Amino acid sequence: MASNEFQPLQGMSDIQAPEIYLWRMMEERARALFTCYGYEELRTPVLEKLSVFQRSLGDTTDVVKKEMYSFKPSKHEIAMRPEGTAGTIRHLAGRGEEGLNARVFYIAPMFRYERPQAGRKRQFHQVGVEATGEANPLADAECIALQKSLLDSWGLTGSKIQISTRGEPSDRKPVADGLRDALRPFEQELCEDCQRRIDENVLRVIDCKNPDCQQIVDRIPSAIEFMSETSRAYLDQVVAALDSMGIEVVVNPKLIRGLDYYVHTVWEISHSALGAQDALAGGGRYEIALGKKAIPGVGFAVGFERAIMALEACGITAGQFAPQGGVWLVSLGEAALAENMKLAAELRAKGVRCGIELAAKSMKAQMRKADRSGAGKVIIRGDQELEKGIAQVKNMAEGTQQDLTIEEILRDA
Ligand code: AMP
Repeated sequence: MASNEFQPLQGMSDIQAPEIYLWRMMEERARALFTCYGYEELRTPVLEKLSVFQRSLGDTTDVVKKEMYSFKPSKHEIAMRPEGTAGTIRHLAGRGEEGLNARVFYIAPMFRYERPQAGRKRQFHQVGVEATGEANPLADAECIALQKSLLDSWGLTGSKIQISTRGEPSDRKPVADGLRDALRPFEQELCEDCQRRIDENVLRVIDCKNPDCQQIVDRIPSAIEFMSETSRAYLDQVVAALDSMGIEVVVNPKLIRGLDYYVHTVWEISHSALGAQDALAGGGRYEIALGKKAIPGVGFAVGFERAIMALEACGITAGQFAPQGGVWLVSLGEAALAENMKLAAELRAKGVRCGIELAAKSMKAQMRKADRSGAGKVIIRGDQELEKGIAQVKNMAEGTQQDLTIEEILRDA
């Protein structure tokens, strides 16, 4: 039998202990923090109509064109979500007025058919927020501040925030025309993809990873220079608000972010521990029209897998969050085992972490398990203890032992 028969699909992982303890810590702290900021949790289905993603992310984006898991089981073509914003806005659009001024967060798996490599998976997980409402630089700044607090709450240090603007919808044409005119003289020197992108989606030339394209981009004016005064002032206000909150950001006009729905502020958070895939998190303001009316909002997403790589580089490991303490019950003989089963149920009902060996094993074997479990106390009972109504209680850290009645044990638990 091939050993890979039991492996998950390429680019997907089983998340197991002890790593899962880090995930749980991150999820718990995220939920607590979002509650402080007035966000409600939202769980949308993994599957949506393909049109939900096409209409919000854009038809020509890489995610929609190349990376979607989509299929057609009946009338509608459907897709597994590659990101969280489109489904969230689909949900909020159905809530009418209330959906236009909502704060929701999600913690969910996402799916993209990409070439797997370190930090790039086909099933990955994001924690994200969306705050709908009219464009307001303070809302964008608050969203970035929340994202920074989230990373801080996990103990993640050393990340860098880069920010830029996509401008208002009315800036799109002048920006595209301006960039196209500036790039035209260099067209033949651009990579094949970018020669196509000049006419198809010129902004993608700006963030092309090819070094030759980058050199050309450095020689032409930035997209921001073709934008209206209002758009530039909006970015300045976001940066000023962040500055007053003590949050350091770097303005990088070459930051584009690949999705069509963005307007005004876009940002990305990177971490040096991540190597080639250094984007730890992203965010931006958007306008998404799934019905007649576009929904404005601002949001971010942080990738769990990449955040974990960065956390490990900061010396934060899963073992620190593994369950510890509690008790382990050692039973010498059948009668003691039956009584210990009862005691275990009572302790667990009080919320005490409690382990017990259910097979007849030697004292030595049971003590070994107790030790491995990390239990703080071991409770030992045999026939003699049953007769006296007591148990020997061993404190594992101190190595001390005392006899206690069952009432005392339950009282102290
Ligand atoms: P994006 O929606 O592409 O801006 O992604 C937001 C965040 O999700 C990124 O900064 C990553 O942390 C994470 N992410 C995106 N794509 C992947 C992937 N294929 N594998 C792992 N994490 C990803």
